[in-house]
Amino acid sequence: MKTMTCKQLGGACDVEFHADTFEEMADQSKRHGKKMFQSGDEGHLQAMNEMQELMQIPDAMTEWFENKRKEFDALPEND
Ligand SMILES: [Zn+2]
Repeated sequence: MKTMTCKQLGGACDVEFHADTFEEMADQSKRHGKKMFQSGDEGHLQAMNEMQELMQIPDAMTEWFENKRKEFDALPEND
């Protein structure tokens, strides 16, 4: 298992996600972000806006994703 925080994944808080794969990690982060977005959390609203701006730039999102994947790969395992 590896651990990443909401902030590390482009979010706004220090909630930790634990997963074996980057896909799983990204999925947990996405679900959390959606929940926070729906509850109207200001920090997460802003983080989501920034993410949407990034999506306007061709390949920026892919690059961002790949960088996060590398970050994930470099993390030590913890259980
Ligand atoms: Zn968060």
